[in-house]
Amino acid sequence: MSDTRVDEVVLAAPRGFCAGVDRAIEIVERALAKFGAPIYVRHEIVHNTYVVNDLKAKGAIFIEDLADVPPGATLVFSAHGVSQAVRQEAAERGFSVFDATCPLVTKVHVEVAKLHKEGYDFIMIGHKGHPEVEGTMGQLTEGIYLVEDVADVARVGVAQSDKLAVVTQTTLSVDDAAEILAAVKQRFPNVREPKQQDICYATQNRQDAVKVLAPKVDVLIVVGSPTSSNSNRLRELAERLGTPAYMVDAPEDLQAQWLEGKRRVGLTAGASAPDILVQHVMQRLRDMGALSVRKMQGVEETTHFPLPKGLK
Ligand code: SF4
Repeated sequence: MSDTRVDEVVLAAPRGFCAGVDRAIEIVERALAKFGAPIYVRHEIVHNTYVVNDLKAKGAIFIEDLADVPPGATLVFSAHGVSQAVRQEAAERGFSVFDATCPLVTKVHVEVAKLHKEGYDFIMIGHKGHPEVEGTMGQLTEGIYLVEDVADVARVGVAQSDKLAVVTQTTLSVDDAAEILAAVKQRFPNVREPKQQDICYATQNRQDAVKVLAPKVDVLIVVGSPTSSNSNRLRELAERLGTPAYMVDAPEDLQAQWLEGKRRVGLTAGASAPDILVQHVMQRLRDMGALSVRKMQGVEETTHFPLPKGLK
């Protein structure tokens, strides 16, 4: 007979939406309210299926290529940011643009532009193909090199190493990034590091919470879409700590076999996963027999980013 009786669900804190995701979604919603549908959004506004489908139902149209945006349309850039080429094309084609790039990603872009003027080239630590990496690498047309892991650091070819700075994707594994950065510093001892690390507060806090929670539970469920970088990092982190972990994009993804013999279940959510999904997953856990829910203590987040002019 299967045993999926869960005694306790422990909710991670903090979890779920960060200030950059909150702001990005509000930008699309306010644009819809102010200018009416359709509002075009370049790339998924944030990497979450529920959020994207909800905004689609309200009249947002998600595109990857600006060629699919009609003249005169209102266009929103996603929270991940865009390259200078995309920004320029949007301006040339006369779209009315609202920029939902997270201000913490913009901070990295500003740093790249500033140091580039001072003659720096860059090593970027990040995941190839992620839109944030494409946006940050695309701040320059040359002199920025991507490394995804320690092995890449050994083989990356740079045009000059006298003035080299390092930047990172905001949603990396804190531990992996530290290891890769150490390898970069070993190979390029003069490399300039950001004053404040580029990995954002939300990524750091959610990973810190999992570090506390994972050893105390028998299995960890991460609410997040497969495309969400920071959600994937939470699942990986728990597994590294020896706790089986699974990601669910929707409550129906939860599988009874994951709970087999598990008394205590941890529940967290990536920065792009809405609280309503966490509530639905919790309800499904209750339906599957979970007896109680407890919230862990965690850092209280107070970060808030203002909306762009014209949408306040
Ligand atoms: S995860 Fe971090 S960088 Fe990404 S939107 Fe949230 S606060 Fe900004």
